[in-house]
Amino acid sequence: MRLGALEAGGTKMVCAIGNENGEIFERISIPTETPEITMPQIVEYFKDKQIEALGIGCFGPIDLKRESETYGYITTTPKLAWRNYNMVGELKKALGVPVGFDTDVNGSALGEATWGITKGLENSMYITVGTGIGAGIITNGKLLHGMLHPEAGHLLMVRHPKDNYEGRCPYHKTCLEGMAAGPAIEARWGKKGFELADKKEVWEMEAYYIAQALVDYIVTLSPERIVLGGGVMHQEHMLPLVREEVKRQLAGYIQTKELNDMEHYVVLPSLNDNQGIMGALKLALDELAFEA
Ligand code: ADP
Ligand code: ZN
Repeated sequence: MRLGALEAGGTKMVCAIGNENGEIFERISIPTETPEITMPQIVEYFKDKQIEALGIGCFGPIDLKRESETYGYITTTPKLAWRNYNMVGELKKALGVPVGFDTDVNGSALGEATWGITKGLENSMYITVGTGIGAGIITNGKLLHGMLHPEAGHLLMVRHPKDNYEGRCPYHKTCLEGMAAGPAIEARWGKKGFELADKKEVWEMEAYYIAQALVDYIVTLSPERIVLGGGVMHQEHMLPLVREEVKRQLAGYIQTKELNDMEHYVVLPSLNDNQGIMGALKLALDELAFEA
């Protein structure tokens, strides 16, 4: 079976062909400009590839309610050219195949849960700490949508006692994304994350915020495992710091075998950075089944 996968991001569109086992045969990357410029290139790539369905993991916010008139649209995104853009409708029309759709982070959560480190778990999360922060959530075996879809990168934070940084989220200033995404690190310390590798206080503060979010997710969503991806997690000392800080902030309130085995509870992605595109393949497969 041939399936198409599209990882639609704010800076690039990764298009790939793969199959129902998560195998990827080929891929290309197209810069994200405006729909007028970018969409014809995407269609051109997929149109002669004999795919049976396409799956899209998309930047958002997006409309995931099938009964909604704007189902499959990118909605209130700050990327103005893409605001109210009918992503699913346009690709369905151009390619004539079923099109599965979810957030980029739900896609990554699904990729890991289908073929990776959270496989077999009914409740898991995938969090990306990069240019922004987002979380994909699987609960009782299904991707969580709810009213909209989780926007768990915008959890409001308790400030670190030594932090004077104002925060850079345009909506909340000091939410998780405003305090801990890559650009916040750069703005607070005046250097890019990778140039700050030897500054202990940078990563202790970063771990403080990420752990705070993880504690909030743990007490509300009860995930069995949490995957932490994104550029900032390339800092190797982050993962142990986050694990320690989660333990400290939970303060022994919850005792489970998972939390007692922190090294297998908070983990890095396991699919060589293919989790997003593999998740999109699974979205394609699920859409085929849904339409059958
Ligand atoms: P995106 O979120 O745009 O998809 P990434 O997940 O790669 O992309 O995240 C990019 C962000 O991660 C940038 O803000 C960058 O400064 C930061 N980053 C990338 N590599 C590192 C690193 N080794 N250490 C700290 N921060 C990093
Ligand atoms: Zn925010």
